[in-house]
Amino acid sequence: MTRLFDDPATFSDDALDGFADAYAGFVSRVPGGVIRADAPPAAKVAVVIGGGSGHYPAFCGVVGPGLADAAVVGNIFTSPSTEAVLSVARAADSGAGILFSFGNYAGDVMNFGVAREQLRAEEFDVRTVLVTDDIASAPPTEAAKRRGIAGDFVVFKIAGAAAEAGYDLDGVERVALRANEHTRTLGVAFDGCTMPGQDGPLFAVPAGAMGVGLGIHGEAGVGEEPMPSAAELAKRLVDGVLAERPAGVERVAAILNGLGTTKYEELFVVWRTAARLLAEAGLTVVEPEISELVTSLDMAGCSLTLTWLDDELEALWAAPANSPGYRKGASSFTRAAQRRVAAAVIVPEEPPPGSVESRACAGTVVLALEAISATMAAHERELGELDAIAGDGDHGRGMVRGAAASLVAARRACDAGAGAGTTLSRAGTEWAARAGGTSGVLWGAALVALGRVVGDSSAPSAVDMGAALQASRTELERLGKATLGDKTMLDVLIPFADAFSSSAARGSDLVNGWREASDVARDAAESTASLTPKVGRARPLAARSVGHRDPGAVSLSLAIDAVGTTIRADKTPKQ
Ligand code: ADP
Ligand code: MG
Repeated sequence: MTRLFDDPATFSDDALDGFADAYAGFVSRVPGGVIRADAPPAAKVAVVIGGGSGHYPAFCGVVGPGLADAAVVGNIFTSPSTEAVLSVARAADSGAGILFSFGNYAGDVMNFGVAREQLRAEEFDVRTVLVTDDIASAPPTEAAKRRGIAGDFVVFKIAGAAAEAGYDLDGVERVALRANEHTRTLGVAFDGCTMPGQDGPLFAVPAGAMGVGLGIHGEAGVGEEPMPSAAELAKRLVDGVLAERPAGVERVAAILNGLGTTKYEELFVVWRTAARLLAEAGLTVVEPEISELVTSLDMAGCSLTLTWLDDELEALWAAPANSPGYRKGASSFTRAAQRRVAAAVIVPEEPPPGSVESRACAGTVVLALEAISATMAAHERELGELDAIAGDGDHGRGMVRGAAASLVAARRACDAGAGAGTTLSRAGTEWAARAGGTSGVLWGAALVALGRVVGDSSAPSAVDMGAALQASRTELERLGKATLGDKTMLDVLIPFADAFSSSAARGSDLVNGWREASDVARDAAESTASLTPKVGRARPLAARSVGHRDPGAVSLSLAIDAVGTTIRADKTPKQ
């Protein structure tokens, strides 16, 4: 039961009043939510989080140094309004851009999304990182549809620490995205939660049973299992989350999160076994939290969150933070980890030297990216208009931003003596980090995959280039889960890579193979007009898209043409 309230209709406002009074040293109220009471010393990225009430300390309780800069506060389990998001974001901005982060729920996506468009029109730079950690809410193939639950906290913590450390908006967005990609949660409930003023819970779990895969808004679990012992529950949660452990992970952040009415002592009993099982799985757990960080009113239950750590995420996870609901001092461990990050991650590494032939090729890569960048700038508007038909209109902007950023990175690598492989992969990493949008991630991954196959030791032959294009294609299929005919850039990439590979196999050189395959790519881009989109942003408005070409397919074909022109004109000897 939620027993204490005055007027159930104003419960969340009343709670916010009390909260803001108690923690006036941390937060100031603004219409729609709270912002940090201490003005940032200099312009810094504003991490703006939010969602409904009922999840304390999420969301207003984790506003403070090293965590969020502001929280937008909705009613119980209800997204805040667009107006509230706008008001809080404008108040939180200090001139270095805004990162929105929140759990993936339709209402929040919509309200933060509309606010973001409005803020962008006012010239604020705003990015969004959705949290999608709940493995029970969709299969891995549909990871983007997953809900955000206790993993919210990990993403907020890592974004907040990065902003506090002075990362720019690109950097904060990059680590927040990676934190989300690396975070998985599985939760269970033993009893439902009750809205203030109601006399029954939103859902009930039968006696002797546990709901597996619950949401944090009183959504019932996706399955019911007999009530386990603490040790059995630990095993269930650890096995469930580790089922998605990628290869090579050795260190994890962990949260065993209570949902509202599960005692800390009960959680510690569960953790006792969870810790042993994680160690047996070869994992080192870094600074675990056995705590209540994202709750669901008075729900009984808990969840296990794991985040696969790399050096940078580890240092940000371990960094100090100070907020009403979560405080963490600087440990010697933290300081050591932060020094490692400062040395290893933030300063870009010198690239490994390439062979003489590969360095000459890196020069061609730079010329090709110059040509792609110029083409995207020339077609920005057309690509945006195509994307606006059934998508969100940002494709031209995204391609311009991605191509320009990748060009800067490629030039830097090339000037430092990198081979073609490293130059391509540095270019790809920057493209993915800066372009935004689905296509940005995919373009970044495609360039990185090309670079991996091309390598730094020799100039690629036409056959090698065919293999590299096929590797890009495989990578995009793996990441985007689209196939031929789904109306995406793959409808150009697949026929292009196949045509290029087969002319290389017939003995064509790079220049001629590229020329022949470009014709195929151009036709393929035109043919996307008749297709119906099956993935991506255009899918919900699929019917509108029929009769128009796919923006991502068109931009890829334009890029292929630009590269063809470059390699024909380039004087570098070709094999
Ligand atoms: P967003 O859709 O995130 O706004 P863009 O507008 O930059 O990203 O890019 C849209 C293009 O991305 C589409 O036209 C399509 O070619 C491509 N795309 C979208 N989803 C996928 C996917 N799952 N696999 C491959 N390409 C995709
Ligand atoms: Mg778009």
